[in-house]
Amino acid sequence: MDIDVRRVLDSLGDPLLALDRSARILHANAGMKELLGWSRLELLGRPLSQVIPGGVPGLTPERPAAPPPGRGWEPHRPLSRPPHRVSALRRDGRPREVEVRLSPWPGAEAEGVCILSFHALDAQQELERQLRLFRRLHLLDAALTQAFSHATDEEEAAYAVLRACGELEGWTLGTYWRLEPGAGVLMPLTLWTASPGLGDFASTTLGRTLTPPEGLPGQAWVRREPVWSRDVTRDGRFLRADVAARQGLHGGLFFPVLGGGSRVYGVVELFSRAPREEREPDEAVASSLGHHFGRFLDRLRLTERELTRDTAVRALWDADLLGLLISNAHGRLLDANTTLLRMLGYTRQDVREGRLSWRVLSPPRQRLALESALRRLRADGVLHSFEGELRRKDDSAAPVLLGSASLGNGRVMTFVLDLSDWKPQEATGPHEADARLHALIAHAPVVLFALDRDGLFTLSEGQGLEALGLKPGQVVGMSVFDLYRGEPTILAHARRALAGEEFYAVESLSTGLVYETHWVPLKDPEGRQSGTLGLATDVTQREREAHWRAQLFTEAEEARAEAERAVRLRDEFLSVASHELKTPLTSLNLQLHVLLKRARQGGRPEDAETVERLEKARRQLQKLARMMDDLLDVSRVAEGRLRLELGEVELVQLVREVLERFQEEAQRSGTRLELAGEGPVVGRWDRSKLEQVVTNLVSNALKYGAGAPVEVRVRSSGAMALLEVTDHGIGIPPEDLGRIFGKFERAVPVRQYGGFGLGLYIVRQLVEALGGAVDAESTRGQGSTFHVALPLAGPETRLPPPAPTAGDLH
Ligand code: ADP
Repeated sequence: MDIDVRRVLDSLGDPLLALDRSARILHANAGMKELLGWSRLELLGRPLSQVIPGGVPGLTPERPAAPPPGRGWEPHRPLSRPPHRVSALRRDGRPREVEVRLSPWPGAEAEGVCILSFHALDAQQELERQLRLFRRLHLLDAALTQAFSHATDEEEAAYAVLRACGELEGWTLGTYWRLEPGAGVLMPLTLWTASPGLGDFASTTLGRTLTPPEGLPGQAWVRREPVWSRDVTRDGRFLRADVAARQGLHGGLFFPVLGGGSRVYGVVELFSRAPREEREPDEAVASSLGHHFGRFLDRLRLTERELTRDTAVRALWDADLLGLLISNAHGRLLDANTTLLRMLGYTRQDVREGRLSWRVLSPPRQRLALESALRRLRADGVLHSFEGELRRKDDSAAPVLLGSASLGNGRVMTFVLDLSDWKPQEATGPHEADARLHALIAHAPVVLFALDRDGLFTLSEGQGLEALGLKPGQVVGMSVFDLYRGEPTILAHARRALAGEEFYAVESLSTGLVYETHWVPLKDPEGRQSGTLGLATDVTQREREAHWRAQLFTEAEEARAEAERAVRLRDEFLSVASHELKTPLTSLNLQLHVLLKRARQGGRPEDAETVERLEKARRQLQKLARMMDDLLDVSRVAEGRLRLELGEVELVQLVREVLERFQEEAQRSGTRLELAGEGPVVGRWDRSKLEQVVTNLVSNALKYGAGAPVEVRVRSSGAMALLEVTDHGIGIPPEDLGRIFGKFERAVPVRQYGGFGLGLYIVRQLVEALGGAVDAESTRGQGSTFHVALPLAGPETRLPPPAPTAGDLH
């Protein structure tokens, strides 16, 4: 090969090799380096088989293309042959599909030199690949579009997808895993297979739940892109590898079903018997399928929603719940439901003939409000509910709640709620009071009322109304000035309250009922007086009771004053009577004394009898005198006229003298009088008062002593003189011990034992006046002992006040 051949080859752009007859490389141009990466020097001398391992038909190392020497190589063949597709080896070991054309070098046939020209097939191959893929996708798309046009739900659509994959793409089994939105898990919704005998795999699959990213479906879900597996039985990420291996499933493709807004509905998985070899086309098919299916599900959702919405609106339209109407941009009614027509008294005919419009439906005074509402609706697209009035066919006004929404193109849907059933109730309850407050007031024993600034009732509530013979709300609208014409207090209070004063007042009605009312002025938002609120509590019973109490108190007071007056009168009487009686008694005593003296001196036999009778009379007189003294003392004590004449007194001697005076009386009743005196016991006392104390005690002892001996003991103890009078008679019941020292207090029947009940009273008064104390101890039926303690120093040193009951002193 001469130099020209090489020069020619180098000047050509296509990759070219020159071969000798034994198919060794004689020359390679620059294009070869570009094509396979070998440099010219690296290629020189190499056998062609190192560059094209599969050989070139008609030129193989086993069967050299070169003809026997002298004949050249196959000179009988045409010079240029059709090209062959072969796999050439790059310098880095990777194959490259090329097209080769073999041609003899003109003029060098004798040397057996031939030229191999190369043509890279990459672009073409890619084109072919794309074409094949496009054909697959096109077929699938067409099949799915058809299937989806019939499918009514997700399951049906999924099954169609799986079957199309099986029939058009040769997959053996497929599953659609649906994402359970609430639970966030993938659950098999449907499974398709063409081949029988895959029951185990199918049932394992259908019994599974996957929580993404679990398993290959889980992976596809999380990644939001297809996951390809050449052989799932060798794929660590695949959870059902065992059963897949048993059932002979190997190739696997998993892809998410993607809806709009990157929503993932679920995952499709496909299995083939043979391992998958081509990843890219599988993945391309998968993502196309995933999107196609996803978009279908999007549409399905939308239709479902629309259907639901349509049904809901239809149901609302037909249900007799609230009035609905549709109006156009000019305010004319296009349609209205039966509820609305009935509410306003119109017929369907009225709507059909286009007679109804907002202008017709709105009462004149509502028109402005409605117009501004419609303006707001045009601006916002929706008009939140507001209270208003609509005009009925009979021209009356219906109180309603309205709300509208724009439907587009100027059309508006409006709901109308009839408030006429609710309005009257509302009139009876204050706007500001909620239901709970209302219920509370309705059951409270009060009357809650409100007056507007003209005195008209706007509210009248509460259980207290019953007493007035009224029902809640009955007087609403009436004037307080009419209703309570005959109750001037109420009218005066209402006027005060409406003038803005807050106050409490008690109101007695002419019916006898009495109320205590809290009047509170009401103000409007601008602070102007708008009326008054009153809370009236029925206090009739309370007032009645208070009245009775006052009456009882007065009566008791009167009785007490009367009793005091009686006591005073009695004391006065006693005082006067005893004083007046004492004088004749003294002169009588004197007369008796004179007569007795004369009789004793007489010496006549009848004189002895006279003496005896006169003695008897004198004893009676003395008894009478003692009683007079008692009465006199009592009145003195009562009048605070008790005067003490203090002097040195020896108590034992004093007691002895008193007892001597009782000797005669004691003998007559057979009573022994004993004195045990450890004298002298000298103190600073009033002799006559002390005599009276001893006299009264001894007299009682004889009177109630039942003839048993009476013992009197006198002694001193420290600064005190102690006197005890003991009898063994009838005794005193314990319950009476505390009271016998009181004025006129007695513990025995008058018929059995006479007496005023003043003896012990006087004893206590006198002893206490002398600074001492007295009390009694007794056992019923066994006798009594009276203790008297007197300070030797006299009345200046008082004993502590006596204890409430006599027993406590012991
Ligand atoms: P009077 O003896 O006049 O009834 P007193 O004031 O002397 O009044 O006595 C009051 C009451 O005390 C008597 O009515 C009697 O019931 C009771 N009483 C007084 N002393 C004795 C006594 N020694 N034994 C029993 N009861 C007595």
